[in-house]
Amino acid sequence: SDDNKLVSRKWKVKPTTIDLGDGVTIEEGSMAIMAGPCSIEGEEQIEKTIAHLKANNIKIMRGGVYKPRSSPYSFRGLGIEGLKTWYKLAREAGIKIITEVMQVSQIEEMYDYVDIYQVGARNTQNFNLLDELGKVDKPVLIKRGISGTIDELLGSAEYVFSAGNENLMLCERGIRTYERASRNTMDINAIAILKEKSHLPVIADPSHGIGLRDHVEPVALACVMAGADGIIYEAHELPDEAWSDGQQTLNFRQSEKLIDKIRKVFELR
Ligand code: PEP
Ligand code: MN
Repeated sequence: SDDNKLVSRKWKVKPTTIDLGDGVTIEEGSMAIMAGPCSIEGEEQIEKTIAHLKANNIKIMRGGVYKPRSSPYSFRGLGIEGLKTWYKLAREAGIKIITEVMQVSQIEEMYDYVDIYQVGARNTQNFNLLDELGKVDKPVLIKRGISGTIDELLGSAEYVFSAGNENLMLCERGIRTYERASRNTMDINAIAILKEKSHLPVIADPSHGIGLRDHVEPVALACVMAGADGIIYEAHELPDEAWSDGQQTLNFRQSEKLIDKIRKVFELR
């Protein structure tokens, strides 16, 4: 049952704090904001994103260099060379990096250049990957599977935690339902339930959650009120020219507005 899981609140009452160093933490009682493009595209894009984050006092940048795409002909990421470029620019700016790891061999390859390993929705139940991330001394964010239940997400977290890595976060990113008006159905319920069940920080991804740029803001704010400890979303200077997920990506003006509102709404909690 849930009660005997190491990731459950029954087992550990004290909420887990993720410490990224340099005073950057993700924990209950504060609001972590992670923003950036779906895909890392190159130096200029990285620099522009970093400038946007710095202007808004955001400390964590998201971006993919290994992209799980539905079609093999779509852009699949710049790979390790892109990550190295990003790392150099991010470090100079004091920005932390969260990026997706898709397979076991990438864990070591990426190790020196990441602050948080992201497990994508298509890999939530890649148990070999989870076992190996359990042996790493860097934080991991696990997304909920595309059609995964809350219990399955907690089961996946249990793999990493029980293998020795307690620097773990859960992420609700929307699930596949019968509804096609939005890309996914953001399960705001899951945020409240995960907060009740687990001591791990809960992060919400409204970009993938609804998949429609114009509605990312209200969904993000609903997630804040539901108890999220952090919001991760997609932002790009020119979303319509983004190499992936442009339809759900905010421009920097929209992003700045969202950041202000997240901080205001968090105060109301
Ligand atoms: C992403 O963060 O760009 C991504 C691919 O997310 P997910 O795994 O939730 O689809
Ligand atoms: Mn994306």
